[in-house]
Amino acid sequence: MEQAELLVCSNCETTHESTQQDCEVCHYPILGTDKEQSKFLAKQINQKAEVKDSLNKMKLSKNLLFGIGVFNLCMVAFQLLVQNTGFTFGVGIQTALGGLFMFFAYMTNKSPLFATGGPIIMYLIYIGLLGILDSSLIFEGIFFKIGFFMILGYGFYSTLVANKILKENEYLATTLSKK
Ligand SMILES: [Zn+2]
Repeated sequence: MEQAELLVCSNCETTHESTQQDCEVCHYPILGTDKEQSKFLAKQINQKAEVKDSLNKMKLSKNLLFGIGVFNLCMVAFQLLVQNTGFTFGVGIQTALGGLFMFFAYMTNKSPLFATGGPIIMYLIYIGLLGILDSSLIFEGIFFKIGFFMILGYGFYSTLVANKILKENEYLATTLSKK
């Protein structure tokens, strides 16, 4: 009877007892051709870069949400303490918005899809309500609004992409989470 050869995967260094075609941990084509192996490695580098890139975008979205949250709360403090407006409806809305933005920033690492998707829905509702109150308010600071939407949308989209890659590639998910 032929003895099973010991094979060490050159990608993840797992030892296999049987002569398998692909590594069972990282799916590296151990018995594949040079071309297949380098193609695999190139794809792995690409996926790693893509995940890292999306983590950076998530960080940007987190900082933006946090900054806007702080800005809103500073505006509230300014109105209450300097302008002495009293706690009006507008001040109440701004307090709630500030708190929610900071909450979403806080949730970014725990639940990225919720933290990047939630603010988009919330902001849409906010603008919808503005429209009901006074439709001219929708166009106030329209470029800021569009820019804000684009950054949030970008954050949400890259979170989706990263999630998809990590779901398909468990080995990559474990190597990245070790760091
Ligand atoms: Zn492997």
